[in-house]
Amino acid sequence: MAKSKYEYVKTFESSTTLLPNTFMVVRIDGRGFHKLSAKYRFEKPNDRQALELMNAAATAVMKELPDINCAYGISDEFRQAAVSSYAIVRWKSSALPVFLNFAGLHELEASHINNLYNTTFWALRQKGGMDATQAEERLKGTLASEKNEILFSELKMNYKNEAEMFKKGSIVYRDYDNSSSGFSREASAPAVFNSEKPKLSKTQKEEERDRRVKASMTIENTDIIRDDFWDQRPWLLS
Ligand code: ATP
Ligand code: ATP
Ligand code: MG
Ligand code: MG
Ligand code: MG
Ligand code: MG
Repeated sequence: MAKSKYEYVKTFESSTTLLPNTFMVVRIDGRGFHKLSAKYRFEKPNDRQALELMNAAATAVMKELPDINCAYGISDEFRQAAVSSYAIVRWKSSALPVFLNFAGLHELEASHINNLYNTTFWALRQKGGMDATQAEERLKGTLASEKNEILFSELKMNYKNEAEMFKKGSIVYRDYDNSSSGFSREASAPAVFNSEKPKLSKTQKEEERDRRVKASMTIENTDIIRDDFWDQRPWLLS
């Protein structure tokens, strides 16, 4: 890349010092995807191939960087949660889960509403023969229930049957067998903030890293807003 026409990419590089032993969440939003999706004729409103490509990219990044705990993607954005060290703050409402649960609640709702809107908007155009202005006009001021009804009775579509990936987004994480993950349920139980730092030896750290590197990656389209999801996968919050 040096001395090539791609050298300008270096100007995007920045170096940030992270607070040790804290969770952090990085949000990456595709730049100009409105245009990009038009140029490459993405299927509207959700192009499966494009979403799968985003998921594959997130998986590759997580393989490259074992410190990343999980990644959540919807539309053209991905959030990746990492611990700068690991297994440090063990309570559920440490920085990461609070962030995820807040951002998650707000955004899963927002993205759900967004996706319902987009699905109805594009169905009105593709199946209902409307242009963009007419579809927008038709949807102005409608509630979610009304959009569902438009889809169902006017466009013969049941929103419930839309792909889970479109409705719920994708979460990418390392899948360990619960029993072998070495975390007890207690580790994720709501409790007083626990900043107790397990002192891991160098060997233990290497083993932990090795375990992460070797773990198989899973992609799920599920409600990450539900406590169940985190309760059943305590290693994601440690
Ligand atoms: P910005 O650069 O400010 O983020 P943007 O054009 O990327 O601008 P966003 O608000 O991020 O705008 O919205 C993403 C756009 O890309 C939306 O128009 C969305 O419909 C489209 N898009 C993203 N992913 C897909 C996909 N998988 N299939 C179809 N359309 C998509
Ligand atoms: P879009 O780009 O898809 O149109 P948006 O512009 O609303 O969405 P942002 O305002 O960038 O997106 O933020 C997305 C969401 O993430 C917000 O709802 C906000 O609650 C949450 N969020 C963003 N930054 C933080 C932060 N530092 N701490 C907690 N939550 C955050
Ligand atoms: Mg935005
Ligand atoms: Mg914003
Ligand atoms: Mg974007
Ligand atoms: Mg976006």
